[in-house]
Amino acid sequence: MGEGCMVVPQHVAWPAGKTFAFTVFDDSDLATVDNVKPVYDLLRDLGLITTKSVWAMPAPDVPRIGGATCDDPAYRSWTLELQTSGFEIGSHGATPGTTPRLLVGQSLDRFREIYGHDPGTLANHSGCLESIYWGDARVTGLARAAYTVMTRFHRRGTFRGHIEGDPLFWGDFCRDRVRYVRNFTFNVVNTLAACPVMPYHDPARPYVRAWFASSEGRDVNAYTARLAEAAQDQLEAEGGACIMYTHFASGFVEDGRLSPRFRALMERLARRNGWFVPVTPLLDHLAETRGLTELNPRDRRALEWRWLRSKARVGHS
Ligand SMILES: [Zn+2]
Repeated sequence: MGEGCMVVPQHVAWPAGKTFAFTVFDDSDLATVDNVKPVYDLLRDLGLITTKSVWAMPAPDVPRIGGATCDDPAYRSWTLELQTSGFEIGSHGATPGTTPRLLVGQSLDRFREIYGHDPGTLANHSGCLESIYWGDARVTGLARAAYTVMTRFHRRGTFRGHIEGDPLFWGDFCRDRVRYVRNFTFNVVNTLAACPVMPYHDPARPYVRAWFASSEGRDVNAYTARLAEAAQDQLEAEGGACIMYTHFASGFVEDGRLSPRFRALMERLARRNGWFVPVTPLLDHLAETRGLTELNPRDRRALEWRWLRSKARVGHS
């Protein structure tokens, strides 16, 4: 089973003769209709159809980082309009705050009630202690020891969504109801080159059915740098796949005005021969054409150390 790391991204056949794939997972931190709708209006007009995450319910107490939730009727109906336009609504966890098991279950039910299905994609939210396989549990063995030192022991055993018997355990819900969970974020435009095994199942982390990686682009500056002209050309030349991880509430719209640099880069990207679909159909295509990778120890080591090296350089999540 070493084939996973031998996959050459150029060999992925994208549907309909497309030469590369591009999508975004938008983390809902601080998002409101006002501060992200102009971004989605542009993406929709350009045919760049991506994934927006939501919290289906409000936090049980004051969250470290909040944002609108589906409790807000105007926000909820706008996300439903997005879904009707083809965008994927994913999950950013049950609520913006630490959420015990019972409430996680209720929030998943609420998500299904609103959107008609369980979440295809999920990303853990900063500060939520029920995050699944997060903190030092993202990495294994010596990589975990290195991570623990790098994070000065602050994230050791902090996150408990995968720990059976803990009041914050919800791993069984995750396994049964969520298709793809995001783990590593890399400082590159071609996510598939940094994580050629995705989507993958990690037998050491059985409560997640399949994992995906992403490209770091946390705010408007990081995002536009990551997708600058040369990077777009590289992504196309490599025939790769980019899954940008960003927060569209972080500087993309100021005083109601969309960042001109962001607009220009997205217009340029949309003119290229890319496959522009949300995260779930992109990962489904990889899984259908190449199979879901069962992560072996060698590939796990390579992936974890690649991430730690890139994290040490730039300090991202
Ligand atoms: Zn977040």
